[in-house]
Amino acid sequence: MCIFCSIADGSIPAHKIYEDDHIVAFLDIAQVTKGHTLVIPKRHYEHFLACDNELLSYLMLKAQIIGNHIMNKTGAKGMHILSNINEAAGQSVAHFHVHLIPRYDAQDACQIHFAQSEPQDLAILAKQLAV
Ligand code: AMP
Ligand code: ZN
Repeated sequence: MCIFCSIADGSIPAHKIYEDDHIVAFLDIAQVTKGHTLVIPKRHYEHFLACDNELLSYLMLKAQIIGNHIMNKTGAKGMHILSNINEAAGQSVAHFHVHLIPRYDAQDACQIHFAQSEPQDLAILAKQLAV
């Protein structure tokens, strides 16, 4: 069974800070910054893009509430809310989870760098990707 399914059903311990019938929020075992939390659905979905619509909406609303709570309790000045999808994006646990990573300042242990790759023709790209 998947490790986060085991955390969700209580068969593996975790430091949970919130739980209800549908989701669990618990401290990431490797705290990138103090208060780093994962929010997961109890039902197994591989990642954000595969998650049931209604459950995803519910989870993201709860992630907002929990994120605000963590900001207030830790005094963090900012936060990353992110979800990795597949190994290519660094996903190491194939059970949908949202990271809440408090930021204390630009020099803390979390470093996310958006480098620019080769220039793109944005008009062509926008046409190709139009939803
Ligand atoms: P990702 O790399 O986006 O898939 O994130 C997976 C996260 O799960 C990592 O930040 C791990 O530190 C965390 N993690 C893995 N196992 C556990 C566990 N048993 N309890 C808490 N966090 C975990
Ligand atoms: Zn799972």
